Amino acid sequence: MSGKAFKLGIMGGTFNPIHQGHLVAAEFIRDEFNLDEVLFVPSGKPPHKDSNEIAPPEHRWMMTVLATASNEHFSVSSLEIERVGESYTRETILQLKKIYPENTECYFITGADAIAEISTWHKTEDLSQITKFIAASRPGYKLDIKSIDSRFQECTYLIEIPALTISSTEIRKRIKEKRTIKYLLPEAVEKYISKNKLYG
Ligand code: ATP
Ligand code: MG
Repeated sequence: MSGKAFKLGIMGGTFNPIHQGHLVAAEFIRDEFNLDEVLFVPSGKPPHKDSNEIAPPEHRWMMTVLATASNEHFSVSSLEIERVGESYTRETILQLKKIYPENTECYFITGADAIAEISTWHKTEDLSQITKFIAASRPGYKLDIKSIDSRFQECTYLIEIPALTISSTEIRKRIKEKRTIKYLLPEAVEKYISKNKLYG
């Protein structure tokens, strides 16, 4: 048996809704780090976010499936949305480690904004024992290793990706204002949103 590790990228997010910024980040990181798979994990009840504006988990999961279906390296997990209570990254990674082969190396993918908050996460200390982090540049946020909690600098990689000034917040706002969201997210997701009257 070959000793080559299985490199698993884990892309956490609310995906409310998923957009091209998420997809470009995941795909560029997959390519740069030679990841075997990128697993998108839509969050259940995000501990950091106000729950009023968040579409039901089933819809966010479905949109994530639609957006990632055409990429052979992408997959989606319903692990966090099925969990009762708050979602914590540590629990998710420990659960994934049980499902994936023993030689799996985990790479938790975030944007520059999310990685800056790392020390506020739940039990981050142990987290650095079970996963590495990859932080992607994002317009409007400084990507600098010095701005990351010193305990995690050693297990964090930074990567510049093509800048897309797209956020789910902006997309939800545009939908409310009945403005176009075309090309900000995959067409299938755009159609799914209008069919199910989300964010209106
Ligand atoms: P919201 O505006 O609702 O916070 P969002 O666009 O920030 O939504 P999230 O679901 O919060 O999307 O983000 C999931 C992950 O994707 C985070 O780590 C975030 O930093 C990253 N990300 C989101 N948008 C981009 C982007 N345009 N470029 C790079 N990374 C991004
Ligand atoms: Mg965000």
